[in-house]
Amino acid sequence: MMKREGLVAVLSGFSGAGKGTIMKHLLDEYPGRYNLSISATTRKPRTGEADGREYFFKTKEEFEQMIEEGAFLEHACFNGNYYGTPKAYVESLTKQGKDVLLEIEVQGALQVKEIFPDAVLLFVTPPSADALKERLVGRGTETPEEIKNRLAISTRESRLMEKYDYLIVNDDIEEAVRDVHDIIETEGLRTSRNRLNIEEMRSELQKFAKGEEKL
Ligand code: 5GP
Repeated sequence: MMKREGLVAVLSGFSGAGKGTIMKHLLDEYPGRYNLSISATTRKPRTGEADGREYFFKTKEEFEQMIEEGAFLEHACFNGNYYGTPKAYVESLTKQGKDVLLEIEVQGALQVKEIFPDAVLLFVTPPSADALKERLVGRGTETPEEIKNRLAISTRESRLMEKYDYLIVNDDIEEAVRDVHDIIETEGLRTSRNRLNIEEMRSELQKFAKGEEKL
């Protein structure tokens, strides 16, 4: 009994909520359990980022060509740049019964839900707006103007929180990671994701009922 269908889990949340850290912990603490989709983007690499690891860095022309070719599962414009999830990776893994994690913003997440209604959408938030502001200030990577802009984006995103299936309050990182993992494990137990297992059990039981198998 191991033929469950692969699921797509989408993690979104405010900038500064700790999505990236949660993802990193999931990959480190459950080796081989999760597959992280690597997005394409037109934004410039930040210090320490490598092409093909954090993102596939593309020019605007390359990205638009990929849109035309239908290479994306979803794509969106965020803060003046394109971001998109390559379709092939997600499709090939889910077909093999593997779970895929996407860390994407809200417009993209809602597109994924349209395409895969079974996708699990999780929204990560700090415990309060004040805590969010403090985290952005504490990071020290954004100017006050940029922080104001991030908070304005968060305000807009907050209007879509109810469209998500689960709310992850990231107060304690270990707890948040456990919540995400537990949700995905539990979602994997849904009967709707275990049709093959159910069919197998049924056909084996029938063999007994028909007397094809010795008692
Ligand atoms: P950053 O530039 O800080 O890496 O990411 C900015 C935002 O884009 C984050 O909210 C991140 O989750 C989102 N993002 C990253 N990859 C994708 C993607 O493939 N599609 C969409 N829709 N959003 C993405």
